[in-house]
Amino acid sequence: MSVMPALFFGHGNPMNALMRNAYTERWSTIGANLPRPKAILCVSAHWYVPGAAVTINTAPRTIHDFGGFPPELYAVKYPAPGDPDLARRVQKLLAPLPVELDERWGLDHGTWSVLCHVYPNADIPIVQLSIDETKPASFHYEIGERLATLREEGILIVGSGNLVHNLHTYAWGRHVVDPFDWAIRFEKETRGLLLAGDHRPLIAYDALGKDAVLSVPTPDHYLPLLYVIGTRAAGEPLTFPVEGVDGGSISMLTVQLG
Ligand code: ZN
Repeated sequence: MSVMPALFFGHGNPMNALMRNAYTERWSTIGANLPRPKAILCVSAHWYVPGAAVTINTAPRTIHDFGGFPPELYAVKYPAPGDPDLARRVQKLLAPLPVELDERWGLDHGTWSVLCHVYPNADIPIVQLSIDETKPASFHYEIGERLATLREEGILIVGSGNLVHNLHTYAWGRHVVDPFDWAIRFEKETRGLLLAGDHRPLIAYDALGKDAVLSVPTPDHYLPLLYVIGTRAAGEPLTFPVEGVDGGSISMLTVQLG
């Protein structure tokens, strides 16, 4: 079996789940073009908690982890099955790091708002892996390295966040605004590092200066990228199948390995 690609999605506004726009059209195209995975292991910005955990449920619930959106969004269900065997495999691969087998979480909107376009039939099993908020960036990259072998077993590793994610400056609503200069500069710099395979400054992103501080005011939406690039083989090709900045300060960039 050839090595499965790995993907970091910029998920942006949860309303993308209900919309058809340039981003969601491309998400659908990505799904149609990927080899069919056996299962998906997803690291979402929205499961950012003290400790590492994997979802173990055979039927993970759809979590509507947001406020102030229309009722249609709360009605969305993404009934993909779980995969307890994959959850236990992740636990073993990461040992001796303690990884809890979690029955309370499910699929949060970081996962389903994108995957409902990538795999609209919800027929591929999904396990979510939490982001341990107590750990440094290097820890998350190293977890990616240890999980890379799953890509050889037909598992699709997905990170869901946003490379630039500043909600204080985000223009809510329908009007189109130009991206902030600092958002464009930070995205350009990180894209260059990704293409060059120069991961070290991406792990130490807080040393990238003021643009990084504005683009990554909190680590949650950035860290899923480190899991994905941690799985990268030396010299593995990397592309950006989705591009754009939404509301001035949310990068919708998708990063694809393989
Ligand atoms: Zn989010």
